[in-house]
Amino acid sequence: MVVPCYNELESLPELVRRLNYTCTQCVGNDYELILVNDCSTDETWVEIMRVSAGMHQVIGVDLAHNHGHQLALTAGLSVASGDRVMIIDADLQDPPELLAEMMAQLDVGADVAYGQRLQRKGETWFKKASAAFFYRLLRRLADAPIPADTGDFRLMKRQVVDVLLSMPEQHRFIRGMVAWIGFRQVAVPYQRQARFAGKTKYPLRKMIRFAADAITGFSVAPLRLSLYFSLWSVLLAILLGLYALWQWFTGAAVPGWTSIAIIVLAFGSMQMLCLGIMGEYLGRIYAQSKQRPLFVIRSIQQNAPAADAIGKSREFSYNA
Ligand code: UDP
Ligand code: MG
Repeated sequence: MVVPCYNELESLPELVRRLNYTCTQCVGNDYELILVNDCSTDETWVEIMRVSAGMHQVIGVDLAHNHGHQLALTAGLSVASGDRVMIIDADLQDPPELLAEMMAQLDVGADVAYGQRLQRKGETWFKKASAAFFYRLLRRLADAPIPADTGDFRLMKRQVVDVLLSMPEQHRFIRGMVAWIGFRQVAVPYQRQARFAGKTKYPLRKMIRFAADAITGFSVAPLRLSLYFSLWSVLLAILLGLYALWQWFTGAAVPGWTSIAIIVLAFGSMQMLCLGIMGEYLGRIYAQSKQRPLFVIRSIQQNAPAADAIGKSREFSYNA
């Protein structure tokens, strides 16, 4: 279990109690509980140290400064060693008891079981409305099938976690990255509870930055805007240029107007077009700079060859 914690002192004892109980029910003693302190300003780290001193299953990770939710998660995932890793928030909005159902999904062949919120209790109408709008916008723009109404609450197989950790991008939108990775992903519906204690650590400012990370990380649509504008502006420039010529032809134009109008239109639309072309290249450079793996192989299937065939194929490959 990986849990990012930022000023979650009041939730921690209850969180640890419920996580321990759920894990013991599901897997006995064979689990680890990784509590990542995202440089809290309260006594969260002291509490984490206290809990981990009493139980070898609890591992505390203390970050050097406040890196934010997604990087705190990544730090926790890099420490996790389990065959299956669950991500869960510290505020108990996501019920840990769902672990059993997610484990069952993984047992029957899923690689990722993600929680999908049916209802969100104790959150403002603004948060719900903006989240609903955001996930629908993202679905249209993103080049990965990012499911609506999900958070990072999910259980993943080791294979998926390893691919996730091999993606070095700085601005991380983990639910999108997991969706991009692929494999078999199934939704587990649940009712999202109100926070156990404290208040949200995602004020509007952070929500907007998070949304920007999601959109820019998974779509070059904003960069394409200038190309669309440029195509329209070239068309408009041609029409307006013809109109300016017509005015000159019929003698209705003030001397000098036609030439100036055509110069402005031609240069304006040419600049737009060049910006659009630059945007296309920039998009490609950006994709390259993210250094994502080119492909993710689920498994490789090869039948065991007969004994003499092995010798032959080796010979062939050496000669080649
Ligand atoms: N969190 C974090 N670093 C931050 C902000 C939040 O580690 O800078 C953690 C927080 O402790 C919680 C999770 O991220 O476990 C989600 O935050 P929160 O519950 O405030 O978000 P919300 O559920 O309101 O979207
Ligand atoms: Mg929360």
